[in-house]
Amino acid sequence: MKGRELVTGNGELKCFPRPFPVPSYQFPTPFMFDHAQHANYHPTTMPHTRDEDWYAAGLHFSCTQSGNCCTGPTGFVWFNDEELTAMAKFLDLTTDEFLIKHAHQIRGHWSLNEIKRNGKYDCVFLGRDDAGCGTCSIYPVRPMQCRTWPFWPENLSSEKAYRYAAKGCPGMAKGLEGEGEFFPIEQIRIRRDATPE
Ligand code: SF4
Repeated sequence: MKGRELVTGNGELKCFPRPFPVPSYQFPTPFMFDHAQHANYHPTTMPHTRDEDWYAAGLHFSCTQSGNCCTGPTGFVWFNDEELTAMAKFLDLTTDEFLIKHAHQIRGHWSLNEIKRNGKYDCVFLGRDDAGCGTCSIYPVRPMQCRTWPFWPENLSSEKAYRYAAKGCPGMAKGLEGEGEFFPIEQIRIRRDATPE
């Protein structure tokens, strides 16, 4: 999700026995965030802040596989041509077949389809394992938007913004308590700067 790390640095599979509850409020997740609609975050109207002071010492984060970042209000998972090719190949489809089956266009850009389940809009590739943990059926080739969570420029723009996003992401919330994998600022920068705009 968008943002999930199924395997930690030491190769251990991280999976909590049950997912955390999905909050009822809206927050920017990799799945639902629409850069085009959030003018405050759009690079043409507001360049990404580079005030790194508040996270200069690094941040902790480990995905808990809540699946929250792949569901919620209707959202968008953008992908580029390279990612399309990789996803189609992974599913043994042509790119045209992939687009017909799994994607739709919004304002001239392609986004992954979503499926309404229990009143929420799941990414078409979100699943649940026997323990209730969120899984991504195209995990090895998921789009960059999914990989860079939670270190998006908009989340990092201030500690307040990061804490707000953490209300919907238990991995972020635990990280703020010092739990989970440690990311030094150099690694945060790599993810932040790789986030598609
Ligand atoms: S592609 Fe995978 S990681 Fe990205 S939103 Fe869909 S289920 Fe989540």
